[in-house]
Amino acid sequence: MYGSHLSIAGGMVNALDEAARLGMDCVQVFTKNQRQWAVKPLDAVEREAWLAKLKELGWDTPRNGGRGRGPVRVISHNSYLINMASPDPDAWKKSVDLQRVEIERCEELHIPLCVAHPGAHLGKVFPRKPGEPNVLDGKPNKDEIAGLKRIVKALDAIHKSLPGYQTITCLETTVGSGTNLGYDFQHLGYIREHVREPERVGFCFDTCHVTAAGYDMTTSRMANAVLREFASICGSKHLKVFHFNDSIGQVGSRKDRHAHIGDGQCGLSCFQAIIQRKGYESVPKILETPKEGHSDGLEWDIVNIRRLQRLERRTVGRDSR
Ligand SMILES: [Zn+2]
Ligand SMILES: [Zn+2]
Repeated sequence: MYGSHLSIAGGMVNALDEAARLGMDCVQVFTKNQRQWAVKPLDAVEREAWLAKLKELGWDTPRNGGRGRGPVRVISHNSYLINMASPDPDAWKKSVDLQRVEIERCEELHIPLCVAHPGAHLGKVFPRKPGEPNVLDGKPNKDEIAGLKRIVKALDAIHKSLPGYQTITCLETTVGSGTNLGYDFQHLGYIREHVREPERVGFCFDTCHVTAAGYDMTTSRMANAVLREFASICGSKHLKVFHFNDSIGQVGSRKDRHAHIGDGQCGLSCFQAIIQRKGYESVPKILETPKEGHSDGLEWDIVNIRRLQRLERRTVGRDSR
């Protein structure tokens, strides 16, 4: 199940056409401009074209987060502006309102999963310097706990105001830059454990972010240990999406810079471990790698997907990079 984040420029349906042209199994999109607070309502013609194309591709089946009815084919990524952990009441309210719009649009477009960055607590009690590593001990500090509680409150408010909606919010692992939450798997687990409707919350595992956050996945053995740790804290069945990005920054660098598959600090063993691990076969694996330029005349998304497909057959055992 390989796909990529594709552009909706010129109309949402274009992302589906492009995914089909590139032979992908799934696709991730923004459902609106990801850098603007102002939202135009979804155009009815655009929505119809999108839904018709989903039908045509046979991608319109699974609702309810994909439970039991075939793999999820379309995923949305929320706006970069949203901060559900904000301590500022106005900013928090604005974020909740925009995240609600995100879920409404997903519902209208039959998109079962909405990837969301957890948020930044913006606290000043425990400031960290950019070069300082994350402490992955599962013990959030006071600022972090306060931020996690605000995220829980935000999700509860959204869920309450949209009863019965099927789109699942997938909280994404982060590198932990600034005061961003979600670099420690315990943060994500905490949120799901504390919301009133946990079935509406899942997770997105970004290989670049996890590596830069400080989890070492550079060999098959270590990658499998990290996956086991994630599963024990967050639950493997709640892992709904992978973001497959290699990482320019080293393990623990807290740098969010994506590299082509196999060209970064995650390395092929990391991706191989996920691909060959039982249980994640039908989980969408989305590339958010650079698209500019070509490699030997082939588009980068195609090159990266081929690299991943080769890993399906590669023998495990030699625990090298
Ligand atoms: Zn990502
Ligand atoms: Zn990233």
